[in-house]
Amino acid sequence: MVSHNINAKGYYGEFGGAYIPEILYKTVEDLKKQYLDIIESESFQQEYHQLLRDYVGRPSPLYYARRMSERYGCRLYLKREDLNHTGAHKINNAIGQILLARRMGKTRIIAETGAGQHGVATATVCALMGMPCRVYMGATDVARQHVNVERMKMLGAEVFPVESGNKTLKDATNEAIRDWCCHPADTFYIIGSTVGPHPYPDMVARLQSVISKEIKAQLMEHEGRDYPDYLMACVGGGSNAAGTIYHYLDDERVRIALGEAGGHGIDSGETAATIHCGTLGIIHGARTLVMQTEDGQITEPYSISAGLDYPGIGPLHAYLAKSGRATVMAINDDEALAAAYELTRLEGIIPALESAHALAMLPKMSFKPTDLVVLTVSGRGDKDLTTYLREMK
Ligand SMILES: *Cc1c(COP(=O)(O)O)cnc(C)c1O
Repeated sequence: MVSHNINAKGYYGEFGGAYIPEILYKTVEDLKKQYLDIIESESFQQEYHQLLRDYVGRPSPLYYARRMSERYGCRLYLKREDLNHTGAHKINNAIGQILLARRMGKTRIIAETGAGQHGVATATVCALMGMPCRVYMGATDVARQHVNVERMKMLGAEVFPVESGNKTLKDATNEAIRDWCCHPADTFYIIGSTVGPHPYPDMVARLQSVISKEIKAQLMEHEGRDYPDYLMACVGGGSNAAGTIYHYLDDERVRIALGEAGGHGIDSGETAATIHCGTLGIIHGARTLVMQTEDGQITEPYSISAGLDYPGIGPLHAYLAKSGRATVMAINDDEALAAAYELTRLEGIIPALESAHALAMLPKMSFKPTDLVVLTVSGRGDKDLTTYLREMK
């Protein structure tokens, strides 16, 4: 059996690794040496799971969506990450990394954020643990994502607007890495997705794998078997998808469908569909698919969904797409919007625009009536209401 897991050097096939400035070598090496021992220790697991239960509200429900099942001719379950504290799956990872940071003796937290969702999750756990927090955010995003900026400030974080480049996520990430280089000894960099240098992609996947662990137990309870025929999720950097598929990666009975952001279409020049349009390159310390020009300049991604417009993709997902283990579809803005409305009207659940990219794959699938399908609703749509109302015609 092929293993779809990471190798000792931090690669999934040709994707991954740690391409970092020399000055961070020791810091990243320390993390690499310690993360597994810490995460797998009994005391970490105990504290982590207690917080997931009492603070986040886990396990998140696995909900049988009756009307959606009728519409798509399958047995569709929704994994409700939208019901987590702070409204998405990102808190699972943020809690795990701050517990790790404390056990490694770090006293200061930094993070990067695009739309602000990961910034809010990080600011939340820093408030919870009483740790100082600086969040790097492109100045364009600071202006666009006003409410999340206010939330981070109320939580006590310092939001640092980045004025370089296009003033968006990749510029914020560069600035966070620069900060980390200046304070490698006391600072822990909480990365928000399965991206960045090894061991981050593996670490974040493990911290999100609580999602598939719960799916196993919940499917057993509902259906008397612990695996579905299909798993579906959206991919930005890849963390909610990684969590959804983690415990099924090597189970070939389970088919995996991932939805990335097509924007206005993969041939439009306005897209964030990195798996469809990207080429091999290095971004945020990892070798993976990157949206770039022929001479290696990173191109600005576009999607209606702020959480998906990332110009790279986690190395795990680049590998799963290339090896054929996962089917990846590019979902355009209009398809995601329609899917969000459909879920709202059929089930009374307003999903995040990101999650709508997973839902929009449903009409493109061909299911048998007996097929068991689990789709992760990565977040709730409150933050997207202005977009939904503006686009409703
Ligand atoms: C950030 C975000 C995503 C995309 O990130 P992944 O790491 O790919 O999961 C998806 N959904 C929601 C609700 C988000 O906030």
